[in-house]
Amino acid sequence: MFYSKSFDKCIRELSKLPGIGRKTALRLTMQLLKMNSKDVEEIANAIVELKKNTKFCSKCGALSDEELCPICNDNNRDTKTICVVEEAKDVFLIESSGRYRGVYHVLGGRLSPLDGINPDDLRIGELLDRIKKDAVNEVILATNPDVEGDTTAIYLNKLINKHFNIKVTRIATGVPIGGYLEYTDEITILKSLENRREMV
Ligand code: ZN
Repeated sequence: MFYSKSFDKCIRELSKLPGIGRKTALRLTMQLLKMNSKDVEEIANAIVELKKNTKFCSKCGALSDEELCPICNDNNRDTKTICVVEEAKDVFLIESSGRYRGVYHVLGGRLSPLDGINPDDLRIGELLDRIKKDAVNEVILATNPDVEGDTTAIYLNKLINKHFNIKVTRIATGVPIGGYLEYTDEITILKSLENRREMV
C-alpha cells in the first residue's frame, strides 16, 4: 500500500491490462498525475464510452456504435466483394491501408479443434447467407497465415465452392510466415491483398 489509496488503486487497475506490469502501471500513474485534469478526464471518458457504446455490427461483425457499422452503411463500398477476417481488429488493420473498397465479414475466431473451436462457433452460416443475399462475386479469405488460419481458409473455400460458383481468393503470403496481421504494416497488408490468389 502506498500513502495514497487513490494512487495505489490506479496502479492496481492499470495492472489488469495485458502487457502492463506493476512497474509500467506505476510509470503510467505518475504520468497521469502530471497531466492536466482535462486530458486525464478525456482518457477516462474514452474508456467508459468505449464499453458503453461499442457493439458488433449486426451484418459484418465489425465494431460499431450503431446497429450497422459505417462500412456496411457506406453506399460506395462494393458489397459484392467480402473480405473474411478472424477478428474485429483485423478490419481496423486492413482499413488503415486505405485501399480496400469491398466489405468485411468477421468470423469471430478461427477453427481450432484442439481449443474446441469448431465451425459452429464461428459466424460461418451468416457468411453463406450474405453471399447468397448480396449475390457476392468474390470472397477474400484473410485469416492469419498460420496453421489454424490456413485450415480455416481451406475449410471455407471447400464450403463456399460446394454452395456457390464464385471466386474465392486467399491473401498472398506477403505477410511473413507465422506472422499475424496485427504485426504487419499497412503496405504489406495492402500488397498481400493486391496479390491475392484464387484458391483451388
Ligand atoms: Zn458492418
